[in-house]
Amino acid sequence: MSKPEPVEVSNFIRNLIEADVNAGKHDGQVVTRFPPEPNGYLHIGHAKSICLNFGMASRFNGRCNLRFDDTNPVRESEEYALAIKEDVSWLGFEWDELRHASDYFEQLYDYACELIRQGKAYVDSSSAEELRALRGTLTEPGTPGPYRERSVEENLDLFQRMRAGEFADGTHVLRAKIDLSSGNMNLRDPTLYRIRKVTHIRTGDAWPIYPMYDYTHCLSDAIEGITHSLCTLEFEDHRPLYNWVLEQLTTPGQPEQTEFARLSLEYTVLSKRRLIQLVEENHVHSWDDPRMPTITGFRRRGYTPESIRDFCERIGVTKNDAWIEMVILENSIRDQLNVEAPRRMAVLEPVKVVITDLDDDYTETLSFANHPQDESAGRRDIGFSKEIWIDRDDFAENPPPKYQRLVLGGEVRLRGCYVIKCNDIIKDADGNIVELHCTHDAQTLGKKPEGRKVKGVIHWVCARQGVNAEVRMYEPLFTVPDPGSAESFSSVINPDSEKVMTRCVVEPSLATAAPETHFQFERLGYFVTDRRDHNKELPVFNRTVTLRDTWAK
Ligand code: ATP
Ligand code: MG
Repeated sequence: MSKPEPVEVSNFIRNLIEADVNAGKHDGQVVTRFPPEPNGYLHIGHAKSICLNFGMASRFNGRCNLRFDDTNPVRESEEYALAIKEDVSWLGFEWDELRHASDYFEQLYDYACELIRQGKAYVDSSSAEELRALRGTLTEPGTPGPYRERSVEENLDLFQRMRAGEFADGTHVLRAKIDLSSGNMNLRDPTLYRIRKVTHIRTGDAWPIYPMYDYTHCLSDAIEGITHSLCTLEFEDHRPLYNWVLEQLTTPGQPEQTEFARLSLEYTVLSKRRLIQLVEENHVHSWDDPRMPTITGFRRRGYTPESIRDFCERIGVTKNDAWIEMVILENSIRDQLNVEAPRRMAVLEPVKVVITDLDDDYTETLSFANHPQDESAGRRDIGFSKEIWIDRDDFAENPPPKYQRLVLGGEVRLRGCYVIKCNDIIKDADGNIVELHCTHDAQTLGKKPEGRKVKGVIHWVCARQGVNAEVRMYEPLFTVPDPGSAESFSSVINPDSEKVMTRCVVEPSLATAAPETHFQFERLGYFVTDRRDHNKELPVFNRTVTLRDTWAK
């Protein structure tokens, strides 16, 4: 069985780069970078950027760097940096070079001195409040402060002393001297450096000053020879500053920034700040909780690198912000697992069925195809004996209309096995069903019963062979499509987003599966062995996705 041909979806950046290559721009080279700040785990929105940056490089025989944008040491950590590398690799991408914005601190400092010498940057010693007051508003221009006309010598001296650590945090900043009346606030003498006496994960205490994002990013791109600097739309207003910095300085490369729409996914939040909040407020267990929209969360949930890359291909790349429905992501994994996942039987809420017309020691071995449409997936043996488990849901004492599963006095087919009839319900003193007593029709193995129709087919597990397992069922974490705009998470969290079922019984072959193995549990959905908790003694499965779209209802 083969997958449907992928359709080429609109990607204006692909067209733009193709045109550049054909025109011989940047000597026909394509060099991109994925530039995360190591201040949190990557989420599915980052995957869009990763697929785009690495994808364009590979499509045009170019290169793509992984660059840590590590200029804000307060919130950055080595744990995050390691996790980011692992996630990018897991998604299937190899970076050409691993770089850090902090690798360029010395060069960035030299470039800043050059701007000062050109009279295009100055040290401003105003307080934060004064700076704010002087900046103006969207309708009113900014006002020059008392430090704007400092001499080059004074600026160089102060900036060197900022670097030497002579001043306290917040006492001075270095600003570009551009245009205080610009309609673009980013050009009103933006800050280039601030004093921050904080230890950096890589440079330690070497630097008491740190460069700002806008100043760092364009120069890092230029230093690395990036040709196409792809970023999300919120940076559109920053592009004039990006270009301004590069125009003033002589840099090795001439990168160009192009913006695309960020991914917004319904029923979740995609911002590191919000994800940190989910973890810290204990709405989830961890960064890799299977309900998290992090790459590592999706991985643990049972998504594959292929499915995430396929999703990024399906949504395309445009200039218009739009919300993407969760079903599009789910369909990517569903389509893959439908083709690839072996079928198995698992009973989540077991009820014992005793086949009363079989001997106590009766056993039979039945051969099951691992995949109904794929003979090459092979077969496996499943035991059948006097006692089996079926799911509580598949029996009804008072059946609703059109119920086609097992009822008292009715028949149902056991998947790949016989038709059975329920003759008796055995209950405990509290009225709970403990056993269903059934008889089987020995003529119905792989055959229709004669003279009557049996419509229902249910899954089952042999009680002799079945292995106890834990199955974790997941529903959306939020109850509203845009939880990010809610006042608090508590009001929009789905209290039933995780249901841990501990009495499940599964086929024996499931217990010995390696972590991160994917299966379809017949009639129940697609599941994966949990990469942290699954083992032979206690098999643990996460439901990745249901068999069919459940959003439609
Ligand atoms: P967040 O808002 O989640 O903190 P960020 O943009 O601050 O994200 P960075 O580490 O700076 O996170 O992001 C690295 C790259 O990923 C940037 O180029 C950014 O534009 C891109 N990116 C981040 N979020 C999304 C998204 N939702 N869709 C597409 N690209 C994204
Ligand atoms: Mg950021």
